Amino acid sequence: MIKPILKVTLAAVLFAGFVSCKESQKTGANKENSNAAGQTATATVALDKEQIISDIQFLSSKECEGRRPGSKGHQLALDLVLSRMRASGLDSIGGSIIQNFTGRSLNGYTEGRNVVAFAKGKKYPDQYMVLTAHYDHVGKRGDTAWFAGADDNASGSAAAMAIAGYLGKNQPDYSIIVALLDREETGLEGAYALVEYLKKTLGESAVRFNLNLDMIGRNDKNELYVWNPSSSGTGGSGENGAGENNR
Ligand SMILES: [Zn+2]
Repeated sequence: MIKPILKVTLAAVLFAGFVSCKESQKTGANKENSNAAGQTATATVALDKEQIISDIQFLSSKECEGRRPGSKGHQLALDLVLSRMRASGLDSIGGSIIQNFTGRSLNGYTEGRNVVAFAKGKKYPDQYMVLTAHYDHVGKRGDTAWFAGADDNASGSAAAMAIAGYLGKNQPDYSIIVALLDREETGLEGAYALVEYLKKTLGESAVRFNLNLDMIGRNDKNELYVWNPSSSGTGGSGENGAGENNR
């Protein structure tokens, strides 16, 4: 699991979106802008709940056989990601939404494919925020058992794809890149490849921050945890280490 790196402003917006998924709204959006003091930036965004659930179910299905790179199931997962990202209407960076890279060998298979697209910002088109989620998982055990990975990370992938759909219809102020990453389970290979790719295509300082979605589908208290490793005193350590201020 990639540990999330974020800035709270975007997290708040996305958090509001996820919360609304649990409500009865299905589509549409409404926003609350800053109050008179300019201190509140709350957005309520309703994402397509049915599509999110159906995408999680498909990605964690037997057909996707644990989404290990090089498997037929992984290709099916990639096909879904490509179809959702193309339908979102987001633009490619550099001509294609597929970013190919080479990873370590998995039984001789070394190909990696990130899917990367962006919504151009209205006010700050040259400043980018990045939303990431890995869509790969660890595959099968024997011929009959597979690691479904519904939470890790079909949940984050489905949410990222739904947010891409939202951004395609609602232009943000800052440019927002949505990247579905491959080969996380083999050592964050997709994330490293994305960093190099963005440095090369956008330059060293174009990206303001990254919010990573990983394992957002399971919490008994119906809460999401946001961890900012760069803020001392508010974050914990590890996958469940978010502090009170980040809930
Ligand atoms: Zn993960």
